[in-house]
Amino acid sequence: MTVVDESGVHSVMIRFCKCPNSRTPDKQLFELGMFPALFTRLKTVFTFPVLNSFLLDNLECGTSVMNYYSKLRRMTSSVFPHLVPDRQWRQLKFLKWNGFGHKSRQPNLGKLALFCPACLQPSVNVPQPTECDGNHPDWIYARSLVMDGNFKVEHLHPTHPEDEVWLTDGRCFMVTRQAYQSHLTNAKEVIQMSECNNHRAVNQANMSRHKLEATGIGGCACARHGCFVPHSIVDFQKGER
Ligand SMILES: [Zn+2]
Ligand SMILES: [Zn+2]
Repeated sequence: MTVVDESGVHSVMIRFCKCPNSRTPDKQLFELGMFPALFTRLKTVFTFPVLNSFLLDNLECGTSVMNYYSKLRRMTSSVFPHLVPDRQWRQLKFLKWNGFGHKSRQPNLGKLALFCPACLQPSVNVPQPTECDGNHPDWIYARSLVMDGNFKVEHLHPTHPEDEVWLTDGRCFMVTRQAYQSHLTNAKEVIQMSECNNHRAVNQANMSRHKLEATGIGGCACARHGCFVPHSIVDFQKGER
């Protein structure tokens, strides 16, 4: 079996326990701290430290899966499989961090992401207005949000759309796909030419989008601390649209 670890890629013999009351092989691997690439054919496993390390590299250094592969491959000069469960790992962590670990309940929309800890959220970090003793003025529940976007991130159409799987569809920061698609088809398009010579967002909105699935990304954040609002981020099709 191929074991991918922070120290590189190794070929290791692994025998599973076959006692009558033993767990299934994939669960035995999880107990050893290994994440299989495929749950049915156990050929490649990733250790939990390598997956954590990749998530950190990805977050802080912007390392892509490809680059991370190459680093490990260079460390061992061995073949590296193209199947990495990094997205599934991230998904499992989201479920764990947000308290869905040992329960079979399904997370609601936006429930795998946290909103700003400093902004007041009734029944999270402040009591519901009805439970208040009257000493709290109403304005403390007011929230100010800002909306903005990035018009440079581009996303190409996937080569094999049928292979795409949405793991956290609408349960994290991005909005639900289906609902957004139907909103886009129903929404009326207003063509607005900018008076300003060089207003990028508006000018781009009137340009063709070629082969891109998305030409930008935007959403809401709290105005004071800049934390994104769960289930509020959308892809732009053209400019600010
Ligand atoms: Zn045994
Ligand atoms: Zn805030």
